[in-house]
Amino acid sequence: MAEIIRVQKGTKDILPAEIDLWHFMEEKALEVFSNAGYKEIRTPIFEATELFARGVGDTTDIVNKEMYTFEKSERSLTLRPENTAGVVRAFIENGMHRLSAPIKLWYKGPMFRYERPQAGRQRQFHQVGMEMFGIKDPAADAEAIALAIRYLNALGLNDLDVEINSLGCPECREEFKTKLKNVIRPYLNDLCEDCQKRFEKNPLRLLDCKVESCKEIYAKPEIQEVIQSDFICSECSEHFTLLKTYLNDLGIKYSVNKLLVRGLDYYNRTVFEIKSNNLGSQNAVCGGGRYDSLVRNLGGQDTPAVGFAMGMERLYSLMQQFPQKKLTAYIVSNETSSAIKLVSDLRNNGISCDFDMTNKKFTKQMEKASKLADYALILGEDEIKNNQISIKNLAESTQKTISRDDIISVLKQVN
Ligand code: ATP
Ligand code: MG
Repeated sequence: MAEIIRVQKGTKDILPAEIDLWHFMEEKALEVFSNAGYKEIRTPIFEATELFARGVGDTTDIVNKEMYTFEKSERSLTLRPENTAGVVRAFIENGMHRLSAPIKLWYKGPMFRYERPQAGRQRQFHQVGMEMFGIKDPAADAEAIALAIRYLNALGLNDLDVEINSLGCPECREEFKTKLKNVIRPYLNDLCEDCQKRFEKNPLRLLDCKVESCKEIYAKPEIQEVIQSDFICSECSEHFTLLKTYLNDLGIKYSVNKLLVRGLDYYNRTVFEIKSNNLGSQNAVCGGGRYDSLVRNLGGQDTPAVGFAMGMERLYSLMQQFPQKKLTAYIVSNETSSAIKLVSDLRNNGISCDFDMTNKKFTKQMEKASKLADYALILGEDEIKNNQISIKNLAESTQKTISRDDIISVLKQVN
């Protein structure tokens, strides 16, 4: 036999036994986002590498270590590691700033990052997310957070922690960065390799480090004093206070986490993360924030924006108790020509059904019906002779015989 070719490390097939739950997540996204006035946008899976270098930021792990980049016709292309940059490109290219604000978009689809695969971390994974353009007021930030929670609740996920922080604006952040560097500098040689690089290029990201020895250093009192200080300017502070007021008004519980800085370069002011208490170490299901300078940085008009992305594999692993969808009917019969006609008739009328094509014994067919469907439709010799069908409710184990002519109207009532 020929050698088997296996799926690539960090990628997975989504199998038929899993697909109902994926459809459920996708249908709920459409429902919840539409309900709040969002339209779906679908951007290409690959883009110019430059878009992510400029859009995500070339000091981020994503751009430095995690991109799937390839050349075609002397052009450098990259499989999208996230979708905000692509949506912003589409927003600019299609002149969407001319639409009346807010412009509300949502998306779902695969993303690609060359990461070390582990539970909750893949190289091809899926995100569902939203972006809202044109609103400076923290009402937009509050709507994004409320929308994320509404979606998670719609999936049956309630045990959630919302963390928020404000990164200030480029001006007030600059001062904070300098203070942070000054207080951390004496420990520079003891930091991990990544943090030593981050120190100059992106000192905020130091706070995000997962290495224990670094965390211990950042827990030192003199460093904590700088981290916990209120460094943001009065305008940024007002914005953050108003966001908290809106969240309180909405009854959304949150905590302020001063270590929350997020992995991408483009955020300013609000950042947030939603964590589940039922996941292991990869417990963030949603990350987002405000990115007021990204549209301009990518060549568009100055446009404030806010958005979030959720990892669908992580949502999936929280939802596994979800029941499988069943067919309405399964035909139990050894009279193939009658069964095939009945199946076609039912499907033409929008009733989901299937039948056995292998002429198994009735008992075997009934077992299969119980597994796959809500009703078994029995078409034996007697039924066919009398133009009838026996219909069995498989959950209740009740059975009755009805005229073949009534089957569609009967099943439509229960479908
Ligand atoms: P993390 O800190 O977990 O690496 P991140 O900050 O890189 O997350 P974002 O880029 O903000 O994550 O993406 C938003 C969400 O997408 C995350 O909260 C997570 O649920 C999911 N996600 C990110 N990377 C992966 C991955 N490699 N595999 C599966 N899900 C992922
Ligand atoms: Mg990451």
